[in-house]
Amino acid sequence: MTTTPLSILPTSDTRPGISGLSLDELGTWVAAHGQPPYRVRQIADAVWTDGGQTEAAAFRTLPASLREALGTEFALDTVADTELRSADGGLTEKALHRLRDGALIESVLMHYPARGASRERHTLCISSQAGCAVGCPFCATGELGFGRDLEVAEIVDQVRHAARRLAADGKRLTNIVFMGMGEPLLNLDRVLGAVEALNDPRRFGLGARHITVSTSGVVPGIRRLTALGPQFTLAISLHAARDALRDVLVPLNRRWPVAEVVAAARDHSLATGRRISYEVTMIAGINDTPADAEAIVDLLGDDHAHVNLIPMNPVAHTPWTASPMPVIEAFAATLREGGIGTTIRRNRGQEVGAACGQLAAERAGEPAAPVVARRRERLVVASAEALRGERSHEPVPAGVDG
Ligand code: SAH
Ligand code: SF4
Repeated sequence: MTTTPLSILPTSDTRPGISGLSLDELGTWVAAHGQPPYRVRQIADAVWTDGGQTEAAAFRTLPASLREALGTEFALDTVADTELRSADGGLTEKALHRLRDGALIESVLMHYPARGASRERHTLCISSQAGCAVGCPFCATGELGFGRDLEVAEIVDQVRHAARRLAADGKRLTNIVFMGMGEPLLNLDRVLGAVEALNDPRRFGLGARHITVSTSGVVPGIRRLTALGPQFTLAISLHAARDALRDVLVPLNRRWPVAEVVAAARDHSLATGRRISYEVTMIAGINDTPADAEAIVDLLGDDHAHVNLIPMNPVAHTPWTASPMPVIEAFAATLREGGIGTTIRRNRGQEVGAACGQLAAERAGEPAAPVVARRRERLVVASAEALRGERSHEPVPAGVDG
């Protein structure tokens, strides 16, 4: 494992990030500075296709006065500092980014070598918020609570950083997944702005099919996406098909129960012709029983759906562990017999804490032992009640609108 430590302290820089500007906004800015329209193309190229060099170097082709105006009015990069850790023999690289106000977020770059007919892939997992309001107990980001929404530039700058690292090796990013910190559909306007920039052939230029947004089930957000038409691939974090258990594992289920989430996902799939991916984090003795597998078959059996089973990455503050592989295999067999395409995903980068939010959680400091003990006790009680089929009496998490 290699580590580059973070060093830079928070700054008072509040200039908007240049990568958050649409080409129209850039056009207005260029015109206001009395420059010809082709400068838009030049600036966008410098920001988006800098071939591995820093923006400062790429901007050298611009007249000095324009360079100065750009530097005064915009931040060329909203990521103040990045700590890199690599694992899996270099196949997984986890980046902890410090934003200008000191907020910590993370992204994970995963390299998949070519195998058989499938080409080599480089997938980046990015964050949409610092922390998360949903509070899933098995998720390290959920433990942190909500910090703030990321700006468009802060989302896409994670991509620019990874793309620059890859370009230095003559490689390109092939896939982007919004599976880092945060609930993307609770920051939907900015996530859509970021996807537009990542999709736009004149900016990052990655096809919609290569971008996946994962949600824990924000029904109004899914319905809004359906009305917009296909923008990217949608993944739903299911984890349990029974409401009582899902109330505990994905607390926003108390606001939007699982049947409503699946109905919205089904309508999205029918309207866009796209298959929906459902993610299930497998937790030993909690959501991995034959009855849970059968409940998923009942829920999704006739849908255009695919299920990914992911062994839970260990997270402090929970009494839980990953389901054993034979249990996951039996679970997968039940789903397949029920007609649902199912994949078992191997954990990536576990040793560098690649589970959602883990590195940032480490930085936030370990809570006092009695706090951890109380959380664990509460989870044991809540999951025992859920396994008896009792719905949660806990409130909907604060910050989950609707
Ligand atoms: N908030 C969104 C996207 C970010 S989480 C969502 O929940 O879908 C991305 C994925 O990581 C989700 O499927 C989530 O359930 C999963 N995840 C979180 N913590 C995990 C852990 N400890 N082990 C395995 N998967 C985890
Ligand atoms: Fe938030 Fe997703 Fe983590 Fe749940 S799993 S707390 S929704 S980031």
